[in-house]
Amino acid sequence: MRVTGNDKLDPDFSKIKKFTQVLGSVTRDNMFTNNSQEWLLPRINPVCENCNKNKKYYIVMVYYKIFPLIKMSKTYHIVCSSCGEKIELDLQEYFKVKPVIIRE
Ligand SMILES: [Zn+2]
Repeated sequence: MRVTGNDKLDPDFSKIKKFTQVLGSVTRDNMFTNNSQEWLLPRINPVCENCNKNKKYYIVMVYYKIFPLIKMSKTYHIVCSSCGEKIELDLQEYFKVKPVIIRE
């Protein structure tokens, strides 16, 4: 697909691929800040609102890539380990949980 019709200016969208990368997981315990009851992500329920069953969440990065160039439009998501319910995090939220992500 072309936007301007100029081959040199337009990105070739047929070469865009979507990737999903699991960065790790966060548990209910390490999402509370040290010795307090303050949950790191006020917008996200400590237990999945959908299934109420999960003991942890996965943190997932979704990005697009135009081969063979750079990663673009990265987004971060928190995913229930039990039912797969997925909520997009804004960057501020991602930076809050980043230090407590357990790499798998
Ligand atoms: Zn769930």
